[in-house]
Amino acid sequence: MTVNATKPQRSIFLDRDGTISPDEYGYIDHPEGYSLYHYTGEALRLLRECGFYLFIVTNQSGIARGYFTPEQLERVHARMLELIRGEGADIDAVFYSPYFKTGIIEPYNIDHEDRKPGIGLYQKARRRYSFRPEQSWMIGDRYTDIAFGKNAGLRTILLLTGNGKKEFYEEMPDWDIKPDFVVQDLLGAAYLIKEYFCR
Ligand SMILES: [Mg+2]
Repeated sequence: MTVNATKPQRSIFLDRDGTISPDEYGYIDHPEGYSLYHYTGEALRLLRECGFYLFIVTNQSGIARGYFTPEQLERVHARMLELIRGEGADIDAVFYSPYFKTGIIEPYNIDHEDRKPGIGLYQKARRRYSFRPEQSWMIGDRYTDIAFGKNAGLRTILLLTGNGKKEFYEEMPDWDIKPDFVVQDLLGAAYLIKEYFCR
């Protein structure tokens, strides 16, 4: 029996910017401005082979800040999925938070549980998919990703891509919670999970 013959009972939550794609360009408002890291397709294929659902959970406060609209973001995400599928990989669902308290665009300029480290996006996934949190993961490049994962009861991996190197060397010593693992990049995280947590 192959892994794919059974429904996955585990999930991996992935941050977007600095995790599956570069974070160098700020708030991405055009599909042409979006690209994946060169290893993202391989990493997602490895994780899928281990029988995980794959979700993107991303804070997109650019909507509340007035930098782009939900429709523009949807076009960027359509391009993201096109690139991922072009690599022979796939994502089960994309969840984003448009909120930011001091933003200028209503109704998004509020505190909201959907904004990581709040776990509103996790709860949305939980309502739609059946999986075991304690065997699931959050992978990201910022404290908010690690706190999101811990708040949701997931295992966590901090990456050194995106903002991760700065977080690890300058900020993490002071964090009240720590990631379970720190890994160079998403491909390293995929190999870690494949080697020790695959079945
Ligand atoms: Mg990030």
